[in-house]
Amino acid sequence: LLNSLLKHEKMDTVSHFAAAVSHELRNPIQGIKGFIQLMQRYEYSREKQLEFHETILKEIQAAESLIDDYLVYAKPSYGQMVCISVKREVEHILKVLGPYALSNNINIVVKSLDKEACIMADRQKFHQALVNIVRNGIEAMPTGGKFYINVATHNAEVSIELADEGCRMTKEEVQRLGEPYFSTKTKGTGLGMMVTYSVIRQMDGHIKVSSAKGKGTVFTLLFPAATRTTTR
Ligand code: ADP
Ligand code: MG
Repeated sequence: LLNSLLKHEKMDTVSHFAAAVSHELRNPIQGIKGFIQLMQRYEYSREKQLEFHETILKEIQAAESLIDDYLVYAKPSYGQMVCISVKREVEHILKVLGPYALSNNINIVVKSLDKEACIMADRQKFHQALVNIVRNGIEAMPTGGKFYINVATHNAEVSIELADEGCRMTKEEVQRLGEPYFSTKTKGTGLGMMVTYSVIRQMDGHIKVSSAKGKGTVFTLLFPAATRTTTR
């Protein structure tokens, strides 16, 4: 019975997300369609065309970030929790987000990275949870800056600190993190943190957020340490 209840809950979640994504994707797609139809029908100056191209590209980017933030839910997952090395995942993140950081004048600094730190996680979901935090950190520093990563193990607890030097959040904004569709960005989805919070909750992890004037935002993720034996 419990199994079938869980299954139903999962299917509900999946269909809810599928419906939300298709609804949200319709806006940018309709925008793109409209501009292309205009350009088919009328002769525009080169200047006007370039302006349209710019708008079309922005709509495509909006659709892309929607897909990125939802990826975890869009893909079927069997919720496999395996023992993973945090160091390996952080290195993977650096590879994936390196170019994005660079093009935004952001220097990602790894302060320290405990080689032994291992946690139980669904690798893909954990990866997505981290990417969403780092991406927000980068987006919080429009004129560039530093993003710090620190991984340590203390008393059978693994802590992953992710800190930016960006625009800080108000108390109210911090409280709303993880709420679906909460976004202060013009082209934001407000889904990234929802995914991150739900993934970390599933992993028995905790999230602490501190955001202070002139200091940016620090996300501290805490997980029970796992033993190394089954690391993949
Ligand atoms: P989105 O990035 O699409 O807006 P998210 O769910 O990723 O949606 O984030 C929700 C909101 O939380 C953001 O719009 C922003 O206001 C706030 N936020 C998240 N991370 C940070 C950060 N590092 N610095 C400042 N604000 C942040
Ligand atoms: Mg985001």
